[in-house]
Amino acid sequence: MNILVINCGSSSLKYQLIDSTSEAVLAKGLCERIGIDGSVLTHTPAGKDKVKIETPMPNHTVAVKLVIDALTDANHGVIKSLDEISAVGHRVVHGGEKFATSVVIDDAVMKAIEECNDLAPLHNPANLIGINSCKEIMPNVPMVAVFDTAFHQTMPEKAYLYGLPYEYYEKYKVRRYGFHGTSHDYVSAKAAELLGKTREDLKIIVCHLGNGGSISAVDHGKCVDTSMGLTPLEGLIMGTRSGDIDPAICDFICQKEGLTPAEMNNVLNKKSGVLGLSKVSSDFRDIEAAANEGNKLARVTLDAFYYRVAKYVGAYTAAMNGVDVIAFTAGVGENNISGRVEICKYFGYLGTEIDEEKNNIRGEERIISKDGSKVTLMCIPTNEELAIARQTLALVK
Ligand code: ADP
Repeated sequence: MNILVINCGSSSLKYQLIDSTSEAVLAKGLCERIGIDGSVLTHTPAGKDKVKIETPMPNHTVAVKLVIDALTDANHGVIKSLDEISAVGHRVVHGGEKFATSVVIDDAVMKAIEECNDLAPLHNPANLIGINSCKEIMPNVPMVAVFDTAFHQTMPEKAYLYGLPYEYYEKYKVRRYGFHGTSHDYVSAKAAELLGKTREDLKIIVCHLGNGGSISAVDHGKCVDTSMGLTPLEGLIMGTRSGDIDPAICDFICQKEGLTPAEMNNVLNKKSGVLGLSKVSSDFRDIEAAANEGNKLARVTLDAFYYRVAKYVGAYTAAMNGVDVIAFTAGVGENNISGRVEICKYFGYLGTEIDEEKNNIRGEERIISKDGSKVTLMCIPTNEELAIARQTLALVK
């Protein structure tokens, strides 16, 4: 069976076609600038050259149609017809408190996703557009929604409630939800597999460090805490997002700089993080290069990022009364060799030490702590698309 995985943004659409038997990626691609001038589809069939198709995409339905055309094309296609797509798995960012697992999409599910729009105004409406466009082009193909928030729904009240008037939770569902759940779920399961154990016997901390970053505590298979909150702004210092700050800063800066709350929100989401702090870039490679050339602000930015990661690991070790595995994943976690070394320098108290030779890898699945370490350190490439395909298959089978 082939599963089409769709990750739809407001002006973009990423896709992968995965053979669920071999779990091979048959093709993947990206539609950019949907609804804007200069739309382009980049399609990469496995084992063949990438093709760029520059053609107008006034809306997502046209984009989906083009994706299907690319997948079934005589030259760069990988299947003969639409009939070879058995199901579609959609990444949906916010499932609120309604969804603790993935679900087959029907009208009631669509309505429930729409009811979460308020909680993720930039993402959920775009996810819904993607689902509707796929339904239009593939009316008879079953579709599944896989939520970024679902894995974290096992968090206890003491972890998800803010110290705010309870009525905000009662009226508006203001609480911590967490994101990157598909990745935290996949990586924690992989970590247990790599140790030859089941996740139900372990205390695992997953450090998903990408452009957006979050850390989760997975206690005996269940997420008990995670660093992102009501929105993906809370927690770590990220590429362009501030992470945790004193909330009083918002009013202080709004007054000093004459910003509206919406403008302040934009600063916190798009102009802060390692970009704002370093004044160099949101890309960790650029910041590292600058730091190596003697840029002090770049150095302190990296130090602040590593320190925040180490503090969350400490907090989650306390939350679980111990930890067996600390796993690094996503762009920075998988590829930044020196970053992992710097973060792990804080873990001496845990009786674990990184093995610099084993750690000398990018994007590979491996134990990177020294033999005999009390806590196992790991590098595990995440694969959210495969996780979505697996969950889709399980529901439509
Ligand atoms: P997202 O999916 O959140 O957009 P990714 O997981 O792709 O982000 O991570 C992107 C980040 O990974 C970038 O900041 C980039 O600098 C970092 N990254 C990728 N490769 C390397 C590398 N070799 N060394 C350091 N950082 C890297």
